[in-house]
Amino acid sequence: MMGFGPPDVVSFVNDTMNVCRRCLEAGDPWKARLAASSAAMHCHSILQEQRADLTGDEKSAVLLLGILSAAYRDFADCFELLKKRALKHKEVEQLWTRLIDCQERTEAVQGLLGGPGLDWLVAQASGAYDHFVRQFGPGEHFFSPIIIVKRESCSICGKDLRGCPHRAGVIYDGKRCRGVVEDMEMRSCDLVRVPRDRRCRVWPWNFDEKSKQFSAAVFTMFDTDDLNDPRERLKDKP
Ligand SMILES: [Zn+2]
Repeated sequence: MMGFGPPDVVSFVNDTMNVCRRCLEAGDPWKARLAASSAAMHCHSILQEQRADLTGDEKSAVLLLGILSAAYRDFADCFELLKKRALKHKEVEQLWTRLIDCQERTEAVQGLLGGPGLDWLVAQASGAYDHFVRQFGPGEHFFSPIIIVKRESCSICGKDLRGCPHRAGVIYDGKRCRGVVEDMEMRSCDLVRVPRDRRCRVWPWNFDEKSKQFSAAVFTMFDTDDLNDPRERLKDKP
């Protein structure tokens, strides 16, 4: 799959992806999810440990492998929902979010990782997306907040992002650089056709006839490189 990752991690993730594919092809998303999740968490713990024997490039490779594993986990969630005959509204919304999560994660690693494991997932996820869109459409309206960012610091060095040597979206030694908003002003929230975050989709069933008001997410906290299990996070809530 890739040459610059630590061999033990590359082979572990590759083997797990194979197990995952076989489980999905056999119609067992639950087992596939378990395998993908274990690979994502394995990469996550290696990065947390700050292993001294790994070079910066190797740490970056571990992050990419973790993102790919998390994309497999997203897809296993989609697969599980797609298997159901009738979806409840909440499940349709959940399926859409997972499809977008999976797409954004595969896009984040494309061009940096290669191999049949990624190609297979990209093809499957795009097939699932098309299937979804045929049934529920690509989305007519989305919420999009107009935010004026006054100060943004770098997640790697903590300095002002405009003046530091890092670029948002680029991976440095296993860490993806992003802007941390320090000061901002939210001006308004628009209803748009092409949003920045497609998770903020307005669903017809969330329209209240009486008050003529929509309810939908204004923004989400999704991060491609957050390898934690979204289901575990839900479980943590009281
Ligand atoms: Zn920086």
